[in-house]
Amino acid sequence: MPTWYDDACFILHYEHQFYRGEYPPPLSGVDPAQVRRLLERIRPDAVQYYAKGSAGLVPFTTRYGNEHPSVMEQPEADVLRVFRDVTRELDIRFVIAYSGLVDFQAADWRSEWQRIGSNYSPYPNRALCPNHGYVDELMLPQLEEILSLYEPDGVWIDGENWTVSPCWCSVCTNEYQMLHGRSAPYDRSDSLWKEWIDFHRDSFQRYVGRVARYLHDRSGDLLYATNAGYATHQPEEVAGLGTLGGGPERLSWDLSPAYSLRQAGLEARFFDSRGLPFDLLTWNQSSARPWAQGRLPALPTYPKTFDHLAQEGSVILANGGRWSVWVTAYSDDSLPEKQHEVVAQTAEFARERAPWCIGTQSDAYVAVLHSSATHRAAGNGLYDPGPSLDRIRGAHQALLELHHPHDVVNEEGLRRNLARYWVIVLPEQIALPPDLDEELTEWVRDGGRLIATGRVSPRILEDIPTFALEDVLGVQWTGRQEPSAHFLYNELPLRIAAPVYHVTLNGAEMVIPLCGTGNEFRPNEWSIPAVTRNTLGEGRGYYLAADFFAYYHRSQYPGLRDFFGAILGDAMPQPPLLTTAPPSVELVLRRKGNATILHWVNHSPGKSLAQNNPFIERVPPSEPFSVTIAVGEEPLEVRLQPEGIEPEWSFSEGALTAFVPPVHLHTALVVTGPERPEAPPGAETEAEAEAEPEAASPVAPAAAPEEPDYPPD
Ligand SMILES: [Zn+2]
Repeated sequence: MPTWYDDACFILHYEHQFYRGEYPPPLSGVDPAQVRRLLERIRPDAVQYYAKGSAGLVPFTTRYGNEHPSVMEQPEADVLRVFRDVTRELDIRFVIAYSGLVDFQAADWRSEWQRIGSNYSPYPNRALCPNHGYVDELMLPQLEEILSLYEPDGVWIDGENWTVSPCWCSVCTNEYQMLHGRSAPYDRSDSLWKEWIDFHRDSFQRYVGRVARYLHDRSGDLLYATNAGYATHQPEEVAGLGTLGGGPERLSWDLSPAYSLRQAGLEARFFDSRGLPFDLLTWNQSSARPWAQGRLPALPTYPKTFDHLAQEGSVILANGGRWSVWVTAYSDDSLPEKQHEVVAQTAEFARERAPWCIGTQSDAYVAVLHSSATHRAAGNGLYDPGPSLDRIRGAHQALLELHHPHDVVNEEGLRRNLARYWVIVLPEQIALPPDLDEELTEWVRDGGRLIATGRVSPRILEDIPTFALEDVLGVQWTGRQEPSAHFLYNELPLRIAAPVYHVTLNGAEMVIPLCGTGNEFRPNEWSIPAVTRNTLGEGRGYYLAADFFAYYHRSQYPGLRDFFGAILGDAMPQPPLLTTAPPSVELVLRRKGNATILHWVNHSPGKSLAQNNPFIERVPPSEPFSVTIAVGEEPLEVRLQPEGIEPEWSFSEGALTAFVPPVHLHTALVVTGPERPEAPPGAETEAEAEAEPEAASPVAPAAAPEEPDYPPD
């Protein structure tokens, strides 16, 4: 069903948590003229304002007893009414932000609504249990009240999946007892611990579905979002996906206030694969320590420069997302006027780019599998944002820096686009659903290139430890591992200080061996493979015997990325795309109709970020670079957008080569062709059979970087 959100590109989010004792007091500075002046200037597609923050107090007269004391003192000030009226007048959508499972007022009022830990006390974050009375007795009826008072175009619920932890409240333990016929486990050693954890995931999914249906029953065209829902720390399938009104129709998350540029690209790619439109929020302020760390208190936030914000926004827009900018209102609900000068620039920046961003689809030819099964097994079993995601972060970073356009997908996302991918990377996927084996095997047989690292979903078959997909990889796991080793690469031992796994060859060939020392003269080769290559049908399976991607994320050594680049070079001797862009420029490959769109975002910080400096002052332009991409037929038009400039370009044997002048923040190379040929691995052979061989052979290496020198075929 089409909604206003489909065409939106810029959302303005105002933060105000409405705590007690704020000074100047809430509502005392509401100024309709200021709201109108700023919104007329910025013209966002939608504005979000808080109807309830984590304090649990609302800025309007309510039937539910949780109004902020300021409402009594300022009876005629209604900030939500002002925003509703002004946005309606200016044809801007209005979205209510409402804190869901964090509500300190409710936790004080009805302490039994809190999540209870195994020690029978509430958790320190005092989050509420979605199975207890809060949802039915306060949250849903109050949302209904808000709907009838302000008729919002959307509801954005905050304080959601990150609050989920096992709950031993009376309702949860009783319900679990009914479902499983025994009492709730108390610790991880219990054999039913996993079921207990899954019960809480199911409870949260059920809660999301209930809120969605409740809201949609009352307002059919209202958009519902659960903040941070279905981001990388919740890789399971979206609740109610494909059902009418049974789940969110907008995905949304506020990125970290500091160092969020690479996070933006990872979360945007993952959201983009979920089958729903999305936005990501960037705070307009940053801090060297946005949250308290142990005994160190949080440090204040300060405004970001335009360059800083636009760098983050570019990544979001390039990946097909809407950009939301977060501004904190003053305690009295007046708005920080000065900060809106930069916000106005960011809105203009987004609008100029929207035609080449909004409504585009990924044309990436590499997929990184971020399976829900692995995330459950590797993390705490819940919505764990911690180190268990490092394997995905490392794979994302390596592919970003190597300029191989990639998607980040869960099991369902992989299936949806399997035929588009040339290469699938399984970064340390320690659990895979067995029903994926056959599909991946067939995909490799048809010409796909699979690269697996670390433990590949270990399974015990007849007492023998095995990896999933051993037939594809041509190796057999012995069950043994070492805490670290070296990869003998270009005759130099490359230290890998991460678990390394012993496999024996079972059809594959050893590409490079493991060795025991870092001494280039005496590396002490183990005759155990570090990297193997196996041919299966038209395709190949590669195995890297280490927790390679998590290690890349943690160590950041560029040589590891180059090493992975060489393996990709072996897997794709003729990749669909080659560029001389530096690793600090992000490439996003998208399409829209007959246009192939290459987005370039300059990540350069312009100064040292050493010693915890998160503030970007001025982004220096990149070097000029070239790109060669297989496009099939000669393009009708090649332009750099939004500038509208025609770059220097040439076309030869199915490939376009273009020269991109220095990029300041973002530019899109838009190649409009007669029709883009499909070139998935499966279809490749068919296309070759029909078309001229040249048309299917991808890239002329003329303008490309040096050919990978490893390994000889
Ligand atoms: Zn509970």
